Amino acid sequence: MSSLPLVFDAPKRRMPPRHLADLDAAQLREVVVELGLPAFRADQLARQYYGRLVADPDQMTDLPASVRPAVAEKLFPKLLDPIKQVACDDGDTRKTLWRAGDGTLLESVLMRYPDRATLCISSQAGCGMACPFCATGQAGLTRNLSTAEIVDQVRAAAADLRDGEIHGGAGRLSNVVFMGMGEPLANYKRVLDAVRKITSPAPHGLGISQRSVTVSTVGLAPAIRKLADEGLSVTLAVSLHTPDDELRDTLVPVNNRWPIAEVLDAAKYYAHKSGRRVSIEYALIRDVNDQPWRADLLGKKLFKALGQMVHVNLIPLNPTPGSEWDASPKPVENEFVRRVRAQGVACTVRDTRGREIAAACGQLAAENA
Ligand code: SAH
Repeated sequence: MSSLPLVFDAPKRRMPPRHLADLDAAQLREVVVELGLPAFRADQLARQYYGRLVADPDQMTDLPASVRPAVAEKLFPKLLDPIKQVACDDGDTRKTLWRAGDGTLLESVLMRYPDRATLCISSQAGCGMACPFCATGQAGLTRNLSTAEIVDQVRAAAADLRDGEIHGGAGRLSNVVFMGMGEPLANYKRVLDAVRKITSPAPHGLGISQRSVTVSTVGLAPAIRKLADEGLSVTLAVSLHTPDDELRDTLVPVNNRWPIAEVLDAAKYYAHKSGRRVSIEYALIRDVNDQPWRADLLGKKLFKALGQMVHVNLIPLNPTPGSEWDASPKPVENEFVRRVRAQGVACTVRDTRGREIAAACGQLAAENA
């Protein structure tokens, strides 16, 4: 199985130029004043970006045309260019491949449901966690994304939904999940900053409810505790994938550093601090982690650690090209669900949006690299 090294510190790559979404309100005012503009322009620009979802100063009609080029240069460098879009599920799922200024590739996926629209975003280009069943994990880590590169994936999707560019007519982006490329807690500061900007009310944020944002992690226990201490009410998802350390050491290599007991302890702390149920992600892999005894053990361990404060999300494995692994047969999956529930733990199977567009974590970027 995987022998890739774990990478916690991103390679020293140049980060993109500063963007409005990298700044807090005071910093933005400073830049505006440096540009020789009256301070009120700061709120106006923030309202354009976070409120009207406009990222191009040429479209900011309340901004004098003469200052637009300077504002564009200092606050709105072009961060992400959509180089490919693919849709499936009758247009209800759309995946975008983005190219950042330095050529780095990243992905986001928009999924529309009758009652909500969820955007899956990337927090890093690539990933250093080396999980062997994950396409992104196999490609390694290129670099961290900047705060603005994370926020702008959300702004762009919210704008497309509002403008009716997604099948189903005009709508509102309601949910954001950090389940695209990267390990969000390995890019902690920028991810946290992005979460605040995604959830703050306009004019200084996109106004999405904290409860509708999910941060998914391989289980960096100290970072989970740190996140708990931020006092947010975002949902934490932990990618457990098996209840025993022996197998988890190979499926999620970071388990060698923070084993299951420590991860569940940190998850318990998060549930306690936030009052939010923790999600446990479990990619069901045929004959690897789908045995009845593992379902029993999973249910037992989770109930002991978290009681009613946990929910298991089973994800039928989306096979990556060249891998010998596959999803479990339906009867095996059903039995797994039944056994987890029998231990008193909520358990559902995630729908499998985007299979035919290679929407499994990192697949589109891998194909285009
Ligand atoms: N690094 C974070 C978030 C990214 S992936 C994390 O690991 O949680 C989001 C979820 O998709 C994780 O649970 C991950 O394990 C899972 N995943 C990755 N590749 C997959 C695949 N091929 N099939 C099913 N789930 C996969």
